[in-house]
Amino acid sequence: MKAFAFEGQRVLLGRLQRGDDLAEGLARFCADHDVRAGCLSGLGALEQGVLGYYDQAAGEYRSRTLYNGLEIASLVGNVSLKDGAPFVHAHLVLADARQECHGGHAMPGCQVFACEFTVWAFAGTAPERHPDPATGLALW
Ligand code: ZN
Repeated sequence: MKAFAFEGQRVLLGRLQRGDDLAEGLARFCADHDVRAGCLSGLGALEQGVLGYYDQAAGEYRSRTLYNGLEIASLVGNVSLKDGAPFVHAHLVLADARQECHGGHAMPGCQVFACEFTVWAFAGTAPERHPDPATGLALW
């Protein structure tokens, strides 16, 4: 087990533009505001969602693309460093037009319709992601 302790925080509110890639936009926001460690939550809507599921046996992500407008019922994530730059790990619950929900890892390709979010940026030494042989993932 690993633990990281922080002694202070800043809280930022942000909004992504229509057409932004969700993960890329959140990572760019963190880089622009010097957020190297933190957590985030958000809501809004996507024009297209790409949800990932990590196949533990195969050691790879499988993704599914959802179209036709989706509510971001929940966006949660954390911020740490990967290859020296802020990296956002985010999960989504997306509601379709029938208000049925689909959830998973926010993959590249999530196209924003509107997204408002909160970032809690922690002061201190940021965790860094490295390859983890036990899972095949890049973890702290
Ligand atoms: Zn994930």
